[in-house]
Amino acid sequence: MTTMAIRLQRSEEVAHGTTAFHFDKPAGFSFRPGQAIDLILPDPAVAGTDGARHAFSIVSAPHEDELVVATRMRDSAFKQALARLPIGGQAEIDGPFGSLTLHNKQERAAVFIAGGIGITPFMSILRHATRNALPQRLVLLYSNRRPEDSAFLTELQRLEGDNRNFRLVATMTRLEESRLPWMGRTGPIDEALLKRIAAELPAPVYYVAGPPAMVGALRNTLERAGVDGDDIRSEEFYGY
Ligand SMILES: Cc1cc2nc3c(=O)[nH]c(=O)nc-3n(C[C@H](O)[C@H](O)[C@H](O)COP(=O)(O)OP(=O)(O)OC[C@H]3O[C@@H](n4cnc5c(N)ncnc54)[C@H](O)[C@@H]3O)c2cc1C
Repeated sequence: MTTMAIRLQRSEEVAHGTTAFHFDKPAGFSFRPGQAIDLILPDPAVAGTDGARHAFSIVSAPHEDELVVATRMRDSAFKQALARLPIGGQAEIDGPFGSLTLHNKQERAAVFIAGGIGITPFMSILRHATRNALPQRLVLLYSNRRPEDSAFLTELQRLEGDNRNFRLVATMTRLEESRLPWMGRTGPIDEALLKRIAAELPAPVYYVAGPPAMVGALRNTLERAGVDGDDIRSEEFYGY
């Protein structure tokens, strides 16, 4: 793959400790919603090392004229270098790659399951589906500790209002630590919830994204709920 240069337009906090980075989109760069890129930073502290390159799912949809990634900010060398990248600063991307993209059979529903930052590939798919009025039934099960930690929650609630084929099921697992009001679901994504969702949908295909431990646990829960392993697709965000 050949790399392409991009420039940082702006960054914004999208949840507690979570930042979205908006880059300009290079001319001719195309991707499918759900795909990822490698972001390569020129910062001297990481340049030329393995640590200069990290994979990120693309949050923005193909129709948007910017390329957005979002990440939990930590004190790793890469994240510190990313935080130092100035507005207008140049980086490179390699890609796109990855196959966590929506299946073709529109008569089959999709159930997206995201833990925390695992929401990123589904943002692109949901923005794309809503913009293009896809007829496919889509459900997002989105688990976070608190509303404060839930990136893009307000946008997802808006997408649910704009897209009659999309249903959002957000759940909080540590609401007692939150200062924000929350009238929605609490507790983990469990077998009972998965069975209830599956019963309402035509032959769903399941997509799971997030840190490896969370993806592994949810795959097990899905299989216990009777989902065929062939109908589960997943992306593990290594490094968490
Ligand atoms: C396809 C894909 C999409 C991703 N999308 C996102 C996203 O949208 N948002 C996001 O925040 N993160 C995403 N990630 C994870 C991201 O690439 C980083 O690994 C993560 O953000 C942690 O980086 P760090 O700098 O905090 O930790 P680091 O210091 O880089 O890593 C912490 C530990 O993980 C290990 N590690 C790092 N990368 C790998 C690897 N590829 N395989 C095995 N071990 C590894 C390191 O050796 C180290 O021990 C994605 C990963 C993949 C593969």
